[in-house]
Amino acid sequence: MKYVITGREPKLALKYFEDIAAIPHGSYNEKAVAEFIKNRAEELGLYARMDRANNVVVKKPATLGYEHLPAVLLQAHTDMVNEKNKDTVHDFEKDGLELIVEGNILRANGTTLGADDGKGVAYMLALMDEDSDKFPHPPLEFAFTSMEEVGLIGAMKLDCSDITARKLIGLDAGPEGVICTTSAGAQEIIVACDTQWEDARGEAVKITVDGLLGGHSAMNITDEKGNANKIMGRILHNVAKVCDFRICNVTGGMMFNAIPREAEAVITVVDGNKDAAVEMINTVFEQLKTELKASDAGVNVQVSDCTADRILSATVTKTVTEALYTIPNGVRMMSKEVEGLPVTSTNMGVVKTLEDKITINTMLRSSSRSVNDDYVDNIITVAQLCGMYVDYKGDWMPAWPYMAESELRPLVKRLYNEKTGGEIKEFAVHGGLELGVFSEKLPGVDIVTLGCTSGNEHTVTEWMDLDSYERVYEFIKELLTELTK
Ligand SMILES: [Zn+2]
Repeated sequence: MKYVITGREPKLALKYFEDIAAIPHGSYNEKAVAEFIKNRAEELGLYARMDRANNVVVKKPATLGYEHLPAVLLQAHTDMVNEKNKDTVHDFEKDGLELIVEGNILRANGTTLGADDGKGVAYMLALMDEDSDKFPHPPLEFAFTSMEEVGLIGAMKLDCSDITARKLIGLDAGPEGVICTTSAGAQEIIVACDTQWEDARGEAVKITVDGLLGGHSAMNITDEKGNANKIMGRILHNVAKVCDFRICNVTGGMMFNAIPREAEAVITVVDGNKDAAVEMINTVFEQLKTELKASDAGVNVQVSDCTADRILSATVTKTVTEALYTIPNGVRMMSKEVEGLPVTSTNMGVVKTLEDKITINTMLRSSSRSVNDDYVDNIITVAQLCGMYVDYKGDWMPAWPYMAESELRPLVKRLYNEKTGGEIKEFAVHGGLELGVFSEKLPGVDIVTLGCTSGNEHTVTEWMDLDSYERVYEFIKELLTELTK
């Protein structure tokens, strides 16, 4: 194999980075890379096991004299997101990535680079190999996980019973100088109500909510943007105060984890009541424009005439209207331990009218299992009071709660300060990470994250800073040595 990164440190980690890049390893296709890791570990005479989900666990004994110390776990995911330019000829099932070095930047030719998380995997391979023979370290355990990008599946399936470490360095991270301190858990709930169709009567109008900014339900939930589905609930709830109406159709949002930007409903109102309905819709629109002036100023509500061939019964109309209106949404609790971090939030992401039922999908995120469970209960209770039932209740994707008494975090901060003179930045994530899964599977585990500077993950312009890659590797090695003291 011809290597393209030459004359750079860390030699062995960069060699492994290229070895991995040569093996196709998109999500669900990790078998070959997992076998590569396991075979390499066995060649080195190390304990290694690979499971049916293509996770690999490897153990390397401590440096002579440090066998009595507790083990440290290093973790990274083996899968990458496969993206390519339209005109790039590349078969992600067969072809290795074509890497390009430009100064201190590494990227791939027309595809994702897979530095997310090849950068962590390569560090681990080099440490599992001879690099760790050159400095004192405690016993090392390595967890290479699969299918991270498609819902943390490998980590969820990993049997952790042979992992003894209760200190974990997460290597799916970065940029340099930033550490993560907590991540949220998540759960998806779909409530539904069966349809009861009747022949249409009355005057039909279409209500459209759009112009909203939307955003990610983890990253943007504190921005107080408008949620199109909740706005539709508010409109319908208020229209019900001034006239009788029936829902013919209500839909909104595309993805459970995105704040919905658009929603649409067709309703019919009793003849002669249309003006009152339109007036009420416009009143709510005026209120929204004022309320969202600073956070989502583009909000737009439009009413237009249309036709309808069938309508939902009065009971179903009331049930759906009140469920849209009352199901809790947005930030439910803010952390008093970590500034700016929501403890729990909910996002009413998708509303659908199907032939047989109307569904409302809510995604919860929480760094606290009990607060999550309380809001799940809350949503179900409210939905049931409205007349809906639980159509789907997803599994809880575990959180990594903030650990105030962490020993690793202050150690990393001190070491970073000694080396660079700078302060490390702490970053709290309201989204889900594999570290949440490990946090639940390894009770009491103390976690830090380290990663070099890289960017544009999941896109064809993904890049990694090679100078930073070297510095962070040196830092990890020094941290491991520090853990022998
Ligand atoms: Zn990743």
